[in-house]
Amino acid sequence: DSILSNVLPAPEDPVLSVIFACRDDPCPVKLNLSVGAYQTEEGKPLVLEVVRKAEQQLANDLYCDKGYLPIDGLADFNKFSAKLILGDDSHAVKENRVVTIQCLSGTGSLRVGAEFLAKHHQQRVIFVPNPTWGNHPFIFTLAGLSVEYFRYYDPHTRGLDFEGMLEDLGAAPSGALVVLQACAHNPTGIDPTLEQWEQIRQIVRSKGLLPFFDNAYQGFASGNLDSDAQSVRMFVADGGECLIAQSFAKNMGLYGERIGALTIVCTSEGVARKVKSQLLLVVRPMYLTPPIHGASIVTTILKNSDMYKDWTIELKGMADRIISMRQQLYEAIQARGTPGDWSHIIKQIGMFSFTGLNEKQVRMMAKEYHIYMTYDGRISMAGLSSKTVPQLADAIHAAVT
Ligand code: PMP
Repeated sequence: DSILSNVLPAPEDPVLSVIFACRDDPCPVKLNLSVGAYQTEEGKPLVLEVVRKAEQQLANDLYCDKGYLPIDGLADFNKFSAKLILGDDSHAVKENRVVTIQCLSGTGSLRVGAEFLAKHHQQRVIFVPNPTWGNHPFIFTLAGLSVEYFRYYDPHTRGLDFEGMLEDLGAAPSGALVVLQACAHNPTGIDPTLEQWEQIRQIVRSKGLLPFFDNAYQGFASGNLDSDAQSVRMFVADGGECLIAQSFAKNMGLYGERIGALTIVCTSEGVARKVKSQLLLVVRPMYLTPPIHGASIVTTILKNSDMYKDWTIELKGMADRIISMRQQLYEAIQARGTPGDWSHIIKQIGMFSFTGLNEKQVRMMAKEYHIYMTYDGRISMAGLSSKTVPQLADAIHAAVT
């Protein structure tokens, strides 16, 4: 008898069950819109040209080895990642009160930040948007924090419940942590305006809350790296503290390289030094040091002004294709005379669209039209192409009529 025979099966993951259902569908024109990874117009994953170039350069570099990185990762990677999110002339960076450590993509950065907070921050309550990326509650709960929700999405307007959001943040206990998605909110595709961000900042600061930015899509929302960083920079400009989890999965297409960074902006150099020493203690017993390859690719690109420019062009190409898919889908729905207001499809931002379709409609579309999306009605715009837009528009039309 196995000593592990008492292990219970884990509950089914709702996203994975959609992926499996699609995988097992024999229909040749099936369409998987559940996964948050960029695809080309031809439905293929994309390796950026600039990434291939950086990899070639690394392969030819005789001094490039496969040794261990330090616990906090590649020093230049950390320096340039902080610059990317905080901006070239960040006061916080100049004042040496920013700590950045290389982590395992966005997820790993969130987890390391959460472990650090659970150990060193007195207030264990962490507020996340309702709804938010499905992994957030697991990451924070397992790190020992207590997850609560603030209102974010209003199903009636298919927009931001801004009043509700401010009310809930205003009622949060002093010192509580608040997760804010820097741009391209997953799963709703709804971001606050800059004016709304300013009001959020005022509430967060006046209540003494500690913001933890999830920055998984910088550049992917608008196509511009600086525009997408404005929410974060607004909070850093006021001199206060914040945490930022950064990912290069989407914006450099480095999903499987697991490359990202955790940045903690502190109020003084002295605090930053202490924070850094404790972060090393969080990382060492978990995985000792982070992987080298993805960090080397990112650093090569961020350090070289020509490659950086090439990257911004390719990044804008990805963002523009997604924006164009929104427009095409909206027009296709209009052309079919589908009842209802579908303007949220073009108003929403980033990789996802929260269609407003319910679970019953989603199941019907999978069964009859072989189109797969998560049961909350979220579709990945990056999985669409000009060829598949009519199929989706037909299915949406059938689902709501
Ligand atoms: N945050 C959000 C909001 C996400 O959507 C994702 C990816 N789906 C992540 C973080 C983490 O991604 P990764 O660990 O691949 O960087």
